[in-house]
Amino acid sequence: MDFNDTPEEEAWRERCRAWLEGNAPSRKADTGGVSLFGEMSDDAAHVARAKEWQAKKFDAGFAAITWPEEYGGTNGTPMQSIIFRQEEGRFDVPTEPYIIGLGMIAPTIRTVGTDGQKDRYLREMLRGEEIWCQLFSEPAAGSDVSSLTTSAVRDGDEWVLNGQKVWTSGAHYSDFGEIICRTDPDVPKHRGITAFVVDMKAPGITIRPLRQMTGGASFNEVFFEDVRVPNDNVLGEVNKGWSVAITTLMNERVAIGSGGGIGGGIGRVVEMARRSGRHTDPVLRQEIASLYCLQRVQKFNGMRTLTAVSKGAVPGPEGSIGKLLGTKALVRMGEVYMDLIGPEGIADTGQGTHDFNQIVLGAPGFRVAGGTDEVMKNIIGERVLGLPGEPRMDKDIPFRDLPR
Ligand SMILES: Cc1cc2nc3c(=O)[nH]c(=O)nc-3n(C[C@H](O)[C@H](O)[C@H](O)COP(=O)(O)OP(=O)(O)OC[C@H]3O[C@@H](n4cnc5c(N)ncnc54)[C@H](O)[C@@H]3O)c2cc1C
Repeated sequence: MDFNDTPEEEAWRERCRAWLEGNAPSRKADTGGVSLFGEMSDDAAHVARAKEWQAKKFDAGFAAITWPEEYGGTNGTPMQSIIFRQEEGRFDVPTEPYIIGLGMIAPTIRTVGTDGQKDRYLREMLRGEEIWCQLFSEPAAGSDVSSLTTSAVRDGDEWVLNGQKVWTSGAHYSDFGEIICRTDPDVPKHRGITAFVVDMKAPGITIRPLRQMTGGASFNEVFFEDVRVPNDNVLGEVNKGWSVAITTLMNERVAIGSGGGIGGGIGRVVEMARRSGRHTDPVLRQEIASLYCLQRVQKFNGMRTLTAVSKGAVPGPEGSIGKLLGTKALVRMGEVYMDLIGPEGIADTGQGTHDFNQIVLGAPGFRVAGGTDEVMKNIIGERVLGLPGEPRMDKDIPFRDLPR
């Protein structure tokens, strides 16, 4: 494991910092350095600010550092991209609307898309002009998403989609979505799925917001009633959509697993302990110390991934360790903080203590988004530790015959 920047990385970091100091509006408040997946404001002004920031990065060559020039990238290294993200994470800039499109769907289109799809979508996505969402989960298909029932039936040069998706982050402001549908129920479940690009403004799509306990409504139920999708929008091959979905999900894990962690939030917890006069309480001190240890372990695990990336490796299933640890640290930090501020945690009393509430209320969702804690543990068990796999009784049975 290498903890230090090389001289080239250090010079790149300085360049990123200088540009961010000159162009980002302000530094981030110390509420943990964690951008909760999907917990952004649902306000149109926020999306407009995100579009402005993305365009500014595009013009300066920081929008997609590792991409080829033909799509607006600068052919940089994965390490340069990670360093820029680390530095950008210190600033108060809205990036959430692009996590799904740029972090997960763009790499999928680059891997399986046709030339026509790459030309049509990638540059617009990178410039921030078009926002994307991911339509995988359904009411009865979450962890086991291959049980999905939203159907797509071929009709001439088009496909007709019917069904329902749920928990679709950002569907309400997205222009396009990557959707996976059942296209052949007569084969086992993983083999009859196809991925499509769907225009989120198409007739027959109804988007209903779901209110979260954070107060925001960043995800939605999305209903499809005879929605027509051109055959050109098939992503990858017909009935090979499961491997397309896995490509997207692997990128999701990388996008989440290489995130910033709870970082500076501990400083805020210590500050609150001092302010409340409880900083001498031995039990509380122990809690803060264990939180600090958890944060260091998470950071070192992240560095292991970064070291692999800097040597040209592709991060593997160990990204799930980062997601699991990050979530655990986030939940624990929220609990310690709430214990410190007591009843002030319930309502904003103007004491300047309420800023952690989004973290406290959003952390349970973070345990579920991008794969639940239990699913992460299964991945670590099976794919990192090499333990025997879960029994999968439905692997060889046609989807139509599965009890549902
Ligand atoms: C903030 C947020 C944003 C999201 N954004 C999106 C999005 O943009 N697009 C999208 O498609 N989805 C999105 N999701 C949905 C998310 O992917 C699913 O919620 C998740 O995969 C879990 O599925 P589920 O909710 O159906 O729970 P279930 O799969 O029904 O799980 C219920 C419980 O059973 C446990 N469980 C399930 N299977 C196993 C197993 N094999 N072993 C042990 N335990 C198991 C789970 O851990 C969980 O505790 C989002 C979710 C959240 C919270």
